[in-house]
Amino acid sequence: MVESILERIARGHFWDFHGGIHPPEQKTLTSTKPIKPLTLPKQLIIPLQQHIGREGDLLVVIGDKVLKGQPLTLSTNPMVVPIHAPTSGIISAIKKSVIAHPSGLSQLCIFLDVDGEDTWRKRQICTDIEQLTNSDIIEKIADSGVAGMGGAGFPTHIKANSKPDINFLIINGAECEPYITADDLLMMEQSDAIIDGIKILDKLLTPAFILIAIEDNKPKAIKALKHASANIEKIKICTIPAKYPAGGEKQLIKILTGQEVPSGKLPIHDGIVMQNVATCFAINEAVRHDTPLIRRVVTVTGQALNKPQNVWALLGTPIKFLLEQCEQQVDEFEQQPVIMGGPMMGFCVSSELVPIVKTSNCILVPSKKEMPSAFDKESSEVECIRCGQCSDVCPSQLLPQELQWSAKAKDYPQLEKLNLSDCIDCGACAYVCPSQIPLVHYYRIAKAEIREQQQLDLKAEKAKIRFEARKLRLEKEKVARQEKHKKAAAARKAAMNKATPEATGAKSAVAAALARVKAKKAAKDSGKIVDKTSQENLKNTSNSATNTGEDQKSQVAAAIARAKAKKKSNTNKPSKSIETDSIDNIDKEVEKSAATKQTSSDDKKAKIAAAIAKAKAKKLSKSIEVSEQSEVAKDKTAEKSASIQQMNHDDKKAKIAAAIAKAKQKALEKIKTESSVEANESKTASLLNQPIPEADQLTTPSKATLSSSSSSSRESDTEVKATPALDKKAKISAAIAKAKAKKKLKEERNDSSK
Ligand code: SF4
Ligand code: SF4
Repeated sequence: MVESILERIARGHFWDFHGGIHPPEQKTLTSTKPIKPLTLPKQLIIPLQQHIGREGDLLVVIGDKVLKGQPLTLSTNPMVVPIHAPTSGIISAIKKSVIAHPSGLSQLCIFLDVDGEDTWRKRQICTDIEQLTNSDIIEKIADSGVAGMGGAGFPTHIKANSKPDINFLIINGAECEPYITADDLLMMEQSDAIIDGIKILDKLLTPAFILIAIEDNKPKAIKALKHASANIEKIKICTIPAKYPAGGEKQLIKILTGQEVPSGKLPIHDGIVMQNVATCFAINEAVRHDTPLIRRVVTVTGQALNKPQNVWALLGTPIKFLLEQCEQQVDEFEQQPVIMGGPMMGFCVSSELVPIVKTSNCILVPSKKEMPSAFDKESSEVECIRCGQCSDVCPSQLLPQELQWSAKAKDYPQLEKLNLSDCIDCGACAYVCPSQIPLVHYYRIAKAEIREQQQLDLKAEKAKIRFEARKLRLEKEKVARQEKHKKAAAARKAAMNKATPEATGAKSAVAAALARVKAKKAAKDSGKIVDKTSQENLKNTSNSATNTGEDQKSQVAAAIARAKAKKKSNTNKPSKSIETDSIDNIDKEVEKSAATKQTSSDDKKAKIAAAIAKAKAKKLSKSIEVSEQSEVAKDKTAEKSASIQQMNHDDKKAKIAAAIAKAKQKALEKIKTESSVEANESKTASLLNQPIPEADQLTTPSKATLSSSSSSSRESDTEVKATPALDKKAKISAAIAKAKAKKKLKEERNDSSK
């Protein structure tokens, strides 16, 4: 297969693709003029996104001074291609500005005020790419911001890092669109650099063959490249017939290899990688000269310019500046249309401030005579006549008229069925349409809307995935929590079941708390009177509960016992026996009443009855106590009185006896002094032998005795005083009488108590 392809190439026989047209080339306006370097513009407007993919993260802020080649954005993703400062200057603004887009979209742009010095950042020139690894080369390409310069803008480092087993590396130098000669001039002037770039790709991709495709209307470019690649057998210069759009990727593959890339597939799936010649030049600049993609060749052409030419335009150069450099003819009566791109695939820009980007290869400024349709303010579109010419020329073998209807109806599913995605916007259908229907314009609008819808769907899908993931995560966390709680509960249960003091204490504490609650409830139900049964129950409950509960219970029981003991001690007094019995009876009645009331449903009545009974008992107890106190006081008074009477009686007796003894003593002393010793002795003896009167007799002396004693009172007193033995006797008699009186009083008391 490969051999047959090479044989056909060697013979100059190629395949043909479906459709295609042969519009006027109009290339001679610029094809003979060398690429002109321009003076620096005053300001550059650099869009952050100039490729297929996302814009990078900003590395600069307003006011920063930047050098030529300095990166302005950072690539954080393979689909992100950085941008660089095309020259030195100061960042004056970062804001949205109109960009090169058919719909006149605005995007974030960096405004660089050019300082005119064009000062480069430090660069590292590579003289031998063999010293670099493939990774180094890929990194350099990526860091230099190289993207496909043929129009698609696909990141080059991704394509250059394709899988092995590449059969063909196709270098696209066809440049089939009318007016555009940028690649042609680049191939003529920079053929060696392009070949060097191709060598770098060869090192990376190691393809079997390298095919450089150039239309036969570019003889100088073909010659230059043949010369530059003469020593490289692997490279084949393929001169293909000029036909629009031969430069389309799938069309060129078909021309060179005869293979058709199926819808929805990429050339890499068939072992084919394609790069534009301008991209090969940019790769060489990036890898060997450390020069990022900051400029490109732009064909500025059209009959409305005095000096149409190819120029080296810095990226970000406003179209207006280019038109000034090429001396645009100003028509005061006509608004000059400016087309970015060629007449087939280009679009009118809405402002001359639109900047040049990496995919801009042409600025067309036609005259009214040259392109009258571009000056028509009102559309000349008419109804489709179903001629089918559009289908005949479509290189992608689509049905342009049906696509048009579905696009107008915004029937996106139908557009998908009609393979709108395979449309390459070549404009061949619109070029041949007799109804002058701007078919490509409708397709582009439909593609933009579908892209927007797809992005919304993608966002919704991502949100759905996040939602599902969150839901799943929450469910997992819930299950984990439940499992954790189960384990903790099992551990607690196991710990409590163990006979450890802690576990027992905890368990007992819980049981005691339950018992206390039950006891409280029972006490409340029984009207705050706890009968013996409930106390016993509580006691039993407490016994089975904790030590703390038991202590409390025992304290209560002890208090009750003390109260009862006190009552009992009061009953032991003889004078209070009847009243104490009454109290006990009342207490029993109260308890009985409380017990009876407890069982009744009328708790309130029971409480009232109990309170009344208690009050009665209290009152009775108080009266008994008062009675006891008065009785005791009476007893004490009587006892005291008796004692005093006895004392007085005894004293009287003693005094009488003492007086008698004194009288006898006096008489004896008188006898002694008046008689002789014998007579005195006999007299004294007779006196001494006189009997002593009994105490009782002395207590109540007769009148005779008292009279005789009074008649001889002086005598008697003298006798008592003079006789100590008699005095002693009298004292003893008095003491005996006193003791007898006391004993008698005590016996009377005992009798009364009995
Ligand atoms: S613009 Fe699309 S539909 Fe029209 S001819 Fe080209 S590829 Fe076909
Ligand atoms: S070329 Fe124009 S008029 Fe003819 S079928 Fe296509 S869209 Fe209709």
